[in-house]
Amino acid sequence: MKIKYYGVRGTVPTPGQSTIRYGGNTPCVAVWCGEELVILDAGTGLRVLGDELADSCFGNGKGSATLLISHTHWDHIQGFPFFSPGYVQGNVIRIMGAHQINKGLETAMHYQQQYQNFPVLLSQMPSRITFKALEEGVGHRIGEVDIETAEMNHPGGSFAYRVTWKGKSVVYATDTEHYDSVDHKLTPLCKDADILIYDSTYTPEEYPNFKGYGHSTYEEGIKLARAANVKSLHLFHHHPNHTDEMLDAMQKKARADFPQTYVAREGWELEI
Ligand SMILES: [Zn+2]
Ligand SMILES: [Zn+2]
Repeated sequence: MKIKYYGVRGTVPTPGQSTIRYGGNTPCVAVWCGEELVILDAGTGLRVLGDELADSCFGNGKGSATLLISHTHWDHIQGFPFFSPGYVQGNVIRIMGAHQINKGLETAMHYQQQYQNFPVLLSQMPSRITFKALEEGVGHRIGEVDIETAEMNHPGGSFAYRVTWKGKSVVYATDTEHYDSVDHKLTPLCKDADILIYDSTYTPEEYPNFKGYGHSTYEEGIKLARAANVKSLHLFHHHPNHTDEMLDAMQKKARADFPQTYVAREGWELEI
């Protein structure tokens, strides 16, 4: 299983000198399970992934990918109109998301490309784009890849995904706010996972001022990682105001408590 980060920033793209090392694109993570491509979220990082895919079978209309959308806040869908494989006839793009927001998912994805927002309607994109509702707790299979879901604590709802292939698992859990005790849905979803990608928008010091915003901290990520016996914790959905230096400091603090912690960085590629 190969994982590559294309966007790690939360809320809004943040180009500039202070974010150059960790990156400013919004959420998009590619997970290759052999030939099967699973994409987690369609933030602005998706544009970069699309450009890289142009040299593969996606360039001549023979590609297929599954796009798992956590929820339809802008930072998680805005890259889709700029995903170049979507403009190549023959490619298949399966967009999946939560059942209860799925009417909203399909509607929101189309709405994003209405003419008042964008010059090309989603229905005019030449690739074959399909939508599928996923239900919480009901597993889904794509080829040899297993997808599991859990709903998280976020305004309007958000889905966490566990992607499992050949005994390796990565959990994508962003845009969620922790509870007083460790999340009873995320703990089983994360059980023994190789990697947990977790919402670390705020520092523990900042968090009290932003209760109810639907985001979390690295400290809570560590609690969850421990409770679920996760091997490696990847901090994700960085706050737009968090500079590279602040993220370095966050990684150092987190590692003192949970050594296998990494601040996710745009362009970082790893194999498990
Ligand atoms: Zn977000
Ligand atoms: Zn959100």
